[in-house]
Amino acid sequence: MWGVRGRGIGYSAGMRDTAVNAHYQQILGDTSPWSVSEVRLDVEHLVNEVRLTVRPDTIWACPKCQNRMHIKEWRTRRWRHMDTCQFKTVLEASVPLVECSEHGAQTVQVPWAEGSSRFTLFFEQFAVQVLEACPTARASELLKITWDEADGIKQRAVRRGLARRHVTGLKYVCVDEKAVGRGQDYMTVVTGVIGGDPRVLYVGDGRDEAALNGFWEWMGLEACAGIKAVSMDMSQSYQNSTRRYCPNADLIFDPFHMMKMLNRAVDEVRRREMSIGTGSERDALKQTRQMWLWGEENLPDRHAARFEVLKKSSLKTARAWRLKELWRTFRACIDVDDAHAFFLKWYKLAMQSKLEPLKKVARSFKAHLAGVVTIFKHGFCNSLAEGVNSRIQLLLQKSCGYRNRQRLKTDILFHFGGLNMDPLAAQ
Ligand SMILES: [Zn+2]
Repeated sequence: MWGVRGRGIGYSAGMRDTAVNAHYQQILGDTSPWSVSEVRLDVEHLVNEVRLTVRPDTIWACPKCQNRMHIKEWRTRRWRHMDTCQFKTVLEASVPLVECSEHGAQTVQVPWAEGSSRFTLFFEQFAVQVLEACPTARASELLKITWDEADGIKQRAVRRGLARRHVTGLKYVCVDEKAVGRGQDYMTVVTGVIGGDPRVLYVGDGRDEAALNGFWEWMGLEACAGIKAVSMDMSQSYQNSTRRYCPNADLIFDPFHMMKMLNRAVDEVRRREMSIGTGSERDALKQTRQMWLWGEENLPDRHAARFEVLKKSSLKTARAWRLKELWRTFRACIDVDDAHAFFLKWYKLAMQSKLEPLKKVARSFKAHLAGVVTIFKHGFCNSLAEGVNSRIQLLLQKSCGYRNRQRLKTDILFHFGGLNMDPLAAQ
């Protein structure tokens, strides 16, 4: 329908071209001081080229001093725009490199794209939506861009979102370590509730004090003073970091992590019993590993009959399991005093169990008792953050191929940061 040059099937220049140019100008919105001057359909390569030119009398002013800038040179740049039918739409324009005598050389920013991106803002907006909805490989296939280009769009989106985000009035945060890959490599993920939803606020390298310090530094001292409680595992480094930066924060030891410690202890008891138990004990324990780790109500029906006998047996593993299941009722405590009383009873039973792995965990809980019971003071439950954590876990599992740490951090913030990444949205 529009002018196809040199292939004998188009219309001649004139009214038709003007109408097509105006049509594209309308699609692109305000592109001043450039305007659409030519639209050319390359049928052979399925490309629709839109040429923009700048008015020759344009005066370029320095953004810092408003003085007139002189053009040093022109560079031809191209940007991919949204497809038209099956045709790739590409914008092309000459962009000046200008120079202010005081503030030096600057590349002029075009209004339809960001920085040195090779995509228009419209295209990036669409790409962000596609990337949010499917894995990078699939998204780049749909968008007909390379994996690296898709990654670049993501990184710009996250940078844009982070620059726009203002976290105010934050009272509670959850800190969690995440294992990356198969090795002993870790990340520190900080989650907070913003506008009623759990959001990843920060991703730090490693799981030491410095990994969390970075988050507090980013928050600033004033905001840190407003933090009332921080949920974490029992690692010393997170405790140290929080105590150092947040003078008014209570430490809460995450019930999920305490449960993990207990489950590990139960499993250790089972393994020892498997290796040094009598023949009948070893037979009884065969292929029961997971049964002891599920919460009782989550045990699949197919194991119910066997486990009914096992759990009442005199096996050491069964004794450890009963202590673990008893601990699970801790969350039903009504306040700090109640939690305290419950703990003392449970601790006594654990110490009497003669099961060294359980005793070790019980001692560790006792050493951190203040942070074990504080959860009932704040009524703050990190089940919200747990939802995000399990989704991050899924992301980590799905993509063991994260060779690049920065990419993983970008992906976590891209998907779970709740950021406003729309390139066309108001700042
Ligand atoms: Zn200047």
